[in-house]
Amino acid sequence: MKNVAIIGSTGSIGTQTLEIARANKDINIVALAAGKNIKLLEAQTREFRPQIVGIWSESDAEDLRQRLADMDIRVVSGMDGLIEIAEFSDSEILVTAIVGMIGIRPTIAAINAGKDIALANKETLVTAGHIIMPLAKKKNVSILPVDSEHSAIFQSLQGNVHGDVEKILLTASGGPFRGKDTEYLRHVRVEDALKHPNWSMGRKITIDSATMVNKGLEVIEAKWLFDVDPENIQVVVQPQSIIHSMVEYRDGAVIAQLGTPDMKLPIQYALFYPERRFLTGDRLDFWSIGSILLEKPDMGTFKGLRFAYDAIKVGGSMPTVFNAANECAVAKFLDGKIRFLDIYSIIEECMSLHNAIDDPDVSQILDTERWVYDLVESRW
Ligand code: NDP
Repeated sequence: MKNVAIIGSTGSIGTQTLEIARANKDINIVALAAGKNIKLLEAQTREFRPQIVGIWSESDAEDLRQRLADMDIRVVSGMDGLIEIAEFSDSEILVTAIVGMIGIRPTIAAINAGKDIALANKETLVTAGHIIMPLAKKKNVSILPVDSEHSAIFQSLQGNVHGDVEKILLTASGGPFRGKDTEYLRHVRVEDALKHPNWSMGRKITIDSATMVNKGLEVIEAKWLFDVDPENIQVVVQPQSIIHSMVEYRDGAVIAQLGTPDMKLPIQYALFYPERRFLTGDRLDFWSIGSILLEKPDMGTFKGLRFAYDAIKVGGSMPTVFNAANECAVAKFLDGKIRFLDIYSIIEECMSLHNAIDDPDVSQILDTERWVYDLVESRW
């Protein structure tokens, strides 16, 4: 039996993790946490029978306690609840399927408690990678990537020596606006930006794909996960999302992982690593694919990627500013309060006004996040 806890169980990654649990009877779900979706969390609790569940607000937790009164289950709330779930004694691995920097403290708590991490919540690594990676090493826990590109890199590294890696080739679909110019982007609507050509994902990451901020976050995530300098991480646009990423070695060999765009593969690989299990779904048919398209990213138009390289070059608290400004801006864009290109203006302005703190601790990271939120609220 593999005892699994999930924070963010009601989202895109969370529900797909539970699909894998449904198909693999040796997965035992011991803990679940969600933000607001009380109905789905109740249904998940009844189906998977965890020992503890968490929901963000205490009033929702009270409601959930009443709904689950017929079950012997502990219901917790808030950050204390998320941390209790992250540290839960019976779990072996925590799936961080929560969105945003709220994942930092539970992830650190889980590592301190000796839990392996199946990491989807990239914002945590982007802002606190300098804390999380050394801590994981010290506590001897594994950080197993769930992001499809990072899983592909991880798979392409198997059986090789780290010192032989020349560079990482991180693939990008290019999002729904690939090939468009700034003039076009001026007029795009929320519903256009939410139409990803290949992947079905949560709303925030879908917008991040359209701005290419997501690829920027992934460059920083890859730097921390694989200990590679950002200048040795090259982004390659692969519009069909068939090549999920590649690693180039010192002898010129390039090893890639390919597959259909299905997040269940990287989630399942992280849960059972190093074992590969059967997974239902389509297989690649190279005869019908015919050719695989590759392009250079347009960082002049899609500035999200360029800002990420700038942020990681400065380092310290600058990636937090990049990430927090984006989180704020995307929330405002989804609410219809700003236009698509304002996302770039907000990130650029926040980064230009910030004096980076070297080696920030968690409270400095969270203070920086607050500073960004206040700044964005006061100006936009
Ligand atoms: P979703 O928006 O679909 O889901 C987010 C989850 O987080 C939901 O379960 C939500 O709960 C929960 N949540 C939000 N706030 C809180 C809170 N305060 N306390 C507890 N739970 C909370 O996001 P995705 O699944 O798309 O993405 C999750 C993470 O995985 C992100 O970091 C994303 O970048 C990353 N990722 C996602 C991929 C994908 O294919 N979706 C691919 C690679 C990485 P509720 O819905 O109940 O409010």
